[in-house]
Amino acid sequence: MNLSIVIPLLNEEESLEELFSRIKSVCENSQLSYEIWFIDDGSTDMSWPIIQNLSLQYPEIHGIKFSRNYGKSQALHAAFEKVKGDVIITMDADLQDFPEEIPGLYDKIISENYDIVSGWKKKRFDNVMTKNLPSKLFNSAARKLSGVELHDFNCGLKAYKKQVVKSIDVYGDMHRYIPVLAANAGFRKITEKEVQHQARPYGTSKFGTERFVRGFLDLVTLWFVSRFGGRPMHFFGAVGTIMFAFGFLSAFWLGLSKLIDVSRGIYGHLLANNPWFFIALTMMILGTLLFIAGFLGEMMIRNNRDHKNYYVEETL
Ligand code: UDP
Ligand code: MG
Repeated sequence: MNLSIVIPLLNEEESLEELFSRIKSVCENSQLSYEIWFIDDGSTDMSWPIIQNLSLQYPEIHGIKFSRNYGKSQALHAAFEKVKGDVIITMDADLQDFPEEIPGLYDKIISENYDIVSGWKKKRFDNVMTKNLPSKLFNSAARKLSGVELHDFNCGLKAYKKQVVKSIDVYGDMHRYIPVLAANAGFRKITEKEVQHQARPYGTSKFGTERFVRGFLDLVTLWFVSRFGGRPMHFFGAVGTIMFAFGFLSAFWLGLSKLIDVSRGIYGHLLANNPWFFIALTMMILGTLLFIAGFLGEMMIRNNRDHKNYYVEETL
């Protein structure tokens, strides 16, 4: 099979039939064999009955229904386990992405051998203040921290080689950064393709302003995990050792100066009267704690060895 089309959805009853018929005619016109996976992420409207009904008429349609709303990442994850196509295309269900882009994305993966082709909504039809501007900021931060050169990380419309979706683990809210997850897993042939975008014809956006807080924290996590996830001691151990050494040397110096005072016959002032005493103490305690954190991190990795963080491209 050429294509698996993965569509996560939450309360999108108005769009589903139009979405399917457009996908169907696009794929048939370009002679691509395909399957469609609708993942109902806890909808409370008529979305699921509509999907059930469509799947009875068309064998290409498959569905997964979650018992409650788990989030877009979990929806993608569930579908990625099932897909059989050579190329996987993800798209939103709200008709903001155009199904007509599918053959172009497919071609770029197949003929130019990319791991990921990410859509780029160059001309975007969302609210400027609440979406477009923050998103610009976001994308530039993501580019800097991850080294993946994309303009539009969070575009719902993307195409993947099958090995990519089978190797990555989309968890939490990480759907925003799938290209970064893939790059960390060794899939570095990532590019983007300008795609059309339109304002939401039905319903409302399912993500509120909390997206920015979560998105930012996830970005920091990703950056940290990709740098030090496999070797926590290199971070915690280094910082811990420097702090401890600093504290220890300060304490040593304090003790020494006290001894010198005593030898000169000066008694009476307490070590604890000197603010350096507390700084030295705190530094030593914090340094030890950080060192222990690094050590515990290393132990956890040891116990979790079968967690693959590399992807073998070829074996002879
Ligand atoms: N979605 C989902 N689960 C959620 C939130 C959203 O499956 O918890 C789906 C939603 O139905 C849509 C896609 O994810 O198909 C993108 O969501 P939306 O259009 O609301 O995001 P926006 O375009 O505003 O960024
Ligand atoms: Mg949308």
